Amino acid sequence: MRRIFAHLVHAFSFNDCGNFRYYIFDVESGSLMEADYSAFLCAKNRYSVEFTSNEKNAFAVLSAAELREANEELDSLEADGLLNTPPVITSYKKPIGALKALCLHTCHDCNMSCDYCFASDGTYGSVEREVMSVSVMKRSIDFLIENSKFIKNLEIDFFGGEPLLHLDNVKEAVAYARAREKETGKKFSFTLTTNCLALNGETAKYLADEMQNVVLSIDGRRCVHERVRHSKSGDSYTAILKNAQQFRALRGDKNYYVRGTFTNKNLDFSEDVKFLSENGFDQISVEPVVLPKNHPLAITETHIEAINKEYERLATLVLTERRNGHFFNFFHFMADLTGGPCVHKRLNGCGAGCDYLAVAPNGTLAPCHRFTGNPDFVLGNVFDGISDTKSVREKFTDTLLSKPHCADCFAKYNCGGGCAANSFEFSGSTSGQYKTGCEFQKKRTELALGINACLTGN
Ligand code: SF4
Ligand code: SF4
Repeated sequence: MRRIFAHLVHAFSFNDCGNFRYYIFDVESGSLMEADYSAFLCAKNRYSVEFTSNEKNAFAVLSAAELREANEELDSLEADGLLNTPPVITSYKKPIGALKALCLHTCHDCNMSCDYCFASDGTYGSVEREVMSVSVMKRSIDFLIENSKFIKNLEIDFFGGEPLLHLDNVKEAVAYARAREKETGKKFSFTLTTNCLALNGETAKYLADEMQNVVLSIDGRRCVHERVRHSKSGDSYTAILKNAQQFRALRGDKNYYVRGTFTNKNLDFSEDVKFLSENGFDQISVEPVVLPKNHPLAITETHIEAINKEYERLATLVLTERRNGHFFNFFHFMADLTGGPCVHKRLNGCGAGCDYLAVAPNGTLAPCHRFTGNPDFVLGNVFDGISDTKSVREKFTDTLLSKPHCADCFAKYNCGGGCAANSFEFSGSTSGQYKTGCEFQKKRTELALGINACLTGN
């Protein structure tokens, strides 16, 4: 008889502040088990997880008794339905029926000029700096209501460029949406992303009161900011940090997060997370920049090892701080060990092109903000409706179940199958692979599982 392992199991080690722990992760059920070293090695061997050379040597010298005991343990976990479990769903495409969310490009204009900006200083490549008029904003809200069908809770993201340059328009749009809620029974949730330069006084108060989420774009330490982010007024960092801190205090318990970017100039980005956590922020996301390989700030495959080592340092920092009673949440290290993966949610991912679209200042529709300005991804406009003559939306319905590179990936339910914009940029297809990003995702998944297992004692 030959044993056939059709399903996915991963085994990995985790450095718990100098003390190595060993885990076996059942991908489909989300079960995570701490193992002794022998069982960990046997799991790697049994489920074809790549050995390091040290592990290979250690596995080769396990005694017959150690092998038997470890394999019996793995057999028993399989029999209990905790290991090598089959997938719940094997085929799924995202629906493109109803719309749930719109990203409004309030303006293609910015009061900053950042060397890594995907939107070319907020202009999205256009010669003219554009502003979304109040009438386009109102029409976008009506368009979302009309296309939302059975969905009650709708989302509007005020994006830019820099939305605070035209806050009066945002205020009128919010008031209009609130009035339409009463007539339609729909409920709007608003998010605004800002670089914080104009986030003070009445502006801060308005956002704190009216937005359901606010994204503060700050990269961390002054030296990091000043190397890549510039403003016409010279020193922007002092105002940005002060404004963001004051807003954080004003915000209380309501949702917000700091969204930083790191480039190849600050591969020690755990220092930026540390800086942010020491300066009053407890919800932090710092992301690797996504730029073409030849850009001077680009992160490429040559940086993978250094960045993954830095994520390990960050994991140690998070664990040490939590154990010392100082909480901050690093978004990529979040993992729910109790509920297992919510498969439908993970499969739907960001929803770009399906239940989520972006609206340019002139009302043109795109699958998400990263595709705005690309003529191959135009999906009509908010006045005449969706006219998807090139079947663009169909390209966004693929999920990790239909992407061959995701099939054997242990991180798939934590990842959701990757970002279509990154895939397009690096492979030429919205369903292709951004390999460098996958390496980071896999590392962060191991660390998230390890951190949460250590903190819960599971
Ligand atoms: S990490 Fe890469 S291979 Fe794995 S699920 Fe995400 S996109 Fe797919
Ligand atoms: S495709 Fe990528 S950039 Fe666009 S909304 Fe999805 S995750 Fe974000």
